Amino acid sequence: MLEIKKNITIAPHTSIKIGGPALYFAKITDPADLIKLFKKIKTSRLPFVIIGGLSNLLFDSRGFKGWIIKIDIQEITQKNNQFIVGAGAILSNLIQAATLGGYGGLHRLIGIPGTVGGAIRGNAGRNNTQISDFLTSIRIFDAQKNKFFNLDPKDCRFQYRSSLFSGNPHHVIIQAVFSLEKKQKQITQKEIEEIIKITRDKPYNHYPSAGSIFKNISLKSIPDKEKRKTLLQSFIQKQKPEKPQSITAIPAGFLIESAGLKGAQINQAQISPQHGNIIINLGRASSSDVLRLIELAKEKVKQAWNIELEEEIIIIKSAF
Ligand SMILES: Cc1cc2nc3c(=O)[nH]c(=O)nc-3n(C[C@H](O)[C@H](O)[C@H](O)COP(=O)(O)OP(=O)(O)OC[C@H]3O[C@@H](n4cnc5c(N)ncnc54)[C@H](O)[C@@H]3O)c2cc1C
Repeated sequence: MLEIKKNITIAPHTSIKIGGPALYFAKITDPADLIKLFKKIKTSRLPFVIIGGLSNLLFDSRGFKGWIIKIDIQEITQKNNQFIVGAGAILSNLIQAATLGGYGGLHRLIGIPGTVGGAIRGNAGRNNTQISDFLTSIRIFDAQKNKFFNLDPKDCRFQYRSSLFSGNPHHVIIQAVFSLEKKQKQITQKEIEEIIKITRDKPYNHYPSAGSIFKNISLKSIPDKEKRKTLLQSFIQKQKPEKPQSITAIPAGFLIESAGLKGAQINQAQISPQHGNIIINLGRASSSDVLRLIELAKEKVKQAWNIELEEEIIIIKSAF
């Protein structure tokens, strides 16, 4: 049943614990309800935002005068190595189901919070793996055309932290099919435990955050050869990476750290003292505190390296 609530405060539902009241909050458990819902949205002439687990979004503390649509379709069904998954399924639940069934690959993404739909939209990844590596089909609802259809991942322009869906808010992901690798349960489980151990002890993970704020900088995107060389040398010197010859991107966190901003604080928002690319909420941070830190990081990195940082976090401008 289509559930619509009014004046719901967003902050407690987000990973960074920021966001004022949303005028309308709709929960979708049945894709067919999207047709009814978008009829109402069109009549209201108010903006809308699709959400999954709210782990990569920054809403305005003053609120959002529009519709928040939570995709809550959570079914996971398995046919051999194929997993047919509702976009609202929690990514770690899918990984767990696959591991128990003797399938792996996707387990390298363990620890990324949020839903399958949110992960597909931003092509979420870690440990040299991204969600698009395992997709075989994506079902969407096009809110402009009022139509459901399937897409081949080849047509979804998956790149580092972006996809066809990043530039198209009218595409609602409702289901996806994954093709996973046969892998012994015990081996996958051991790898999962190792990944969790590494992330669990990071101090910034003990505070509310929205994960990485900026995208890393691909070396290919720096046309000036000399600048590329200086940057790479500086990174290798400071960070001493294990395989310097295989570096293809410079972490945004390194650029922010080298601009002297680790630990920088505006009111209750702080650039983590341990990780330049994470902004943590010390308790009562507002969206404007976070936005001011984002601007500061962009400005200082531009001054230090003449590089424009690009946000990975999705900022929802308030609509009043
Ligand atoms: C502690 C922490 C660690 C993190 N680590 C990583 C990491 O290692 N790698 C990584 O890539 N990310 C990481 N993230 C960021 C975030 O968890 C991922 O981007 C995640 O995939 C977002 O999923 P979500 O369901 O929370 O999406 P949301 O935050 O709800 O939404 C993100 C975007 O996706 C859109 N969206 C959501 N659902 C749908 C849908 N069904 N259809 C269409 N659009 C949709 C939203 O409109 C929004 O634009 C981390 C975040 C935190 C807080």
